[in-house]
Amino acid sequence: MDAKNYVEKVLEDVKRRNPGEVEFYNAVNEVLHTLIPVLEKRPELIEAAILDRIVEPERLISFRVPWMDDAGNIQINRGFRVQFNGALGPYKGGIRFHPTVSQSIVKFLGFEQIFKNSLTGLPMGGGKGGSDFDPKGKSDAEIMRFCQAFMSELYKHIGPDVDVPAGDIGVGGREIGFMYGMYRKLSNSSSQGVLTGKPLTFGGSLGRTPATGYGLLYFANEMLKDKGTTFEGKTVVVSGSGNVAIYAIEKAQQFGAKVVTCSDSGGYIYDEEGIDLAVVKQLKEVEARRIKDYLEFRPKAKYVEGSTNVWEVKCDVALPCATQNEIDKASADLLIKNGVQFVAEGANMPTTLDAIAAFQNAGIYFGPAKACNAGGVATSGLEMTQNSMRLSWTFEEVDDKLKGIMQNIFAASKAAAKEIGDEDNLLAGANIAGFLKVSDAMMKQGLI
Ligand code: GLU
Repeated sequence: MDAKNYVEKVLEDVKRRNPGEVEFYNAVNEVLHTLIPVLEKRPELIEAAILDRIVEPERLISFRVPWMDDAGNIQINRGFRVQFNGALGPYKGGIRFHPTVSQSIVKFLGFEQIFKNSLTGLPMGGGKGGSDFDPKGKSDAEIMRFCQAFMSELYKHIGPDVDVPAGDIGVGGREIGFMYGMYRKLSNSSSQGVLTGKPLTFGGSLGRTPATGYGLLYFANEMLKDKGTTFEGKTVVVSGSGNVAIYAIEKAQQFGAKVVTCSDSGGYIYDEEGIDLAVVKQLKEVEARRIKDYLEFRPKAKYVEGSTNVWEVKCDVALPCATQNEIDKASADLLIKNGVQFVAEGANMPTTLDAIAAFQNAGIYFGPAKACNAGGVATSGLEMTQNSMRLSWTFEEVDDKLKGIMQNIFAASKAAAKEIGDEDNLLAGANIAGFLKVSDAMMKQGLI
C-alpha cells in the first residue's frame, strides 16, 4: 500500500473506532498527514503497521471520582488517565481539571504528548489525564477532597518508572501537593518522582513554574533569529493569564518586546503601554481574581468584556497561551491582515487546522505547540532526574538546560522540515522529528 493510502486507511479506522471523538481525530489527522513523506521513504514502517499501533493507546483508564462538597452533598466526577505510548520511557503528561475534559480531549492531548516528549530528547513516553471537575469557585477544602478522591484510584496505575503525571489547566502546585500526599499515604512510598510540578519543599524543581512560558519564548526567539530579527521593539499579543501566559509575557518583556494583551474567559485587556505583569501576577497568582480587575490598577488600559479575541489587536508576534481552538480561520485572517509575522503556540493546539493552513499560505512563520510548549514537560523531566539523584539544581542550571533543549527542538524541527524540502514548515518538521524517535524505539522493541 502506498503511504498516502495507508494514512487514509488508518484515519478511517480511527474514525470508526473512536466515534464522536472529534478532538482526538483532528489531532491524529494533523500528525499523520505530515508523516507521508517519511513513510514514502521507509516502507518498512508501513509493513510494521506502525501508524495502526501508534494511534491506539497502550492503556486507557476511566474511573468514578466521588467526593463531598462543603455543603455535605455527594458529587460525582469522571477521571481519566491515558497511557498512550511507553516506548521511550515512563508515560508522562499532565492532569487537567476542567468541565470540558472528556475521553476525546484526554486522548488528543495524550497523543500530542508522545511526540512532544520525544522532541525533548529525554526518556519519557506519552500520557495525559484529567477530570471534568470544575475547580472554579471551589474552596481549598473541596479542592483537597477532590484531589484525594482522584488519587485514591489513580495511585494504582502510576509510579516513578510507570507513569508520572504533572499539572495542566486547573492543576498547579497546590493540587499536585494534595495528590502527592494521598499517593504517599496509599502506596506507603515516598517516591517523589511519581509526580512533577511539586512544591519545592518535597522534590519540586526550581524553574518548573515558568518553564512552559520561558520555553515558548526560547523557541520563538530561535524562529525570529532564523529570520534575521529579534524580539527587541516587537509588539506581542498574548492570550490567557494562567501559568503559561504569565511567564511568556515575562520572558517576552525581558527580550525587549512590548506585550499589549492578556485575557481570561471573561474578556481581554488591551494595554497600549505594555502589560504591567506585576498586576497580572497579583490578580491571578495571589488573589485568584478576574482579569477585568486589571483596570483598577491601570485605568488607562482597555477591557473588552465577553470577548477573548485578542487576535483583533495589531501585532508582530502572536502567542496563543489560553486553550485549544482559540485561533480559528477568521482570527487567523484578521492577524494576517494586521501584519502578524510570527505565531508560536503556548497552549495545546490553540490554532484550528484551517487557521494553520491560512498562516502557512500567507507565509507566516508558525511554531506548533508540541515543539513550542515542550519546555514544561522538559523541565518535568529534569525534575525527575533530580528526584532520582536526590539532589537539587539551581535555577540557573535548570534554566540553562531548558534553553538548550528548546534550541535543540528548534534545530531538529528545522532540519526535518528541510529534509522534506519545506524548510519553514516547523509543524511537519516537529511531527517528523518526534515520530522518528518513537517509531525507531517501537520497531526495536518488537511487536508489543
Ligand atoms: N501539561 C504540560 C504539557 O502539556 C506538562 C506536562 C508534564 O509536565 O508532564 O506538556
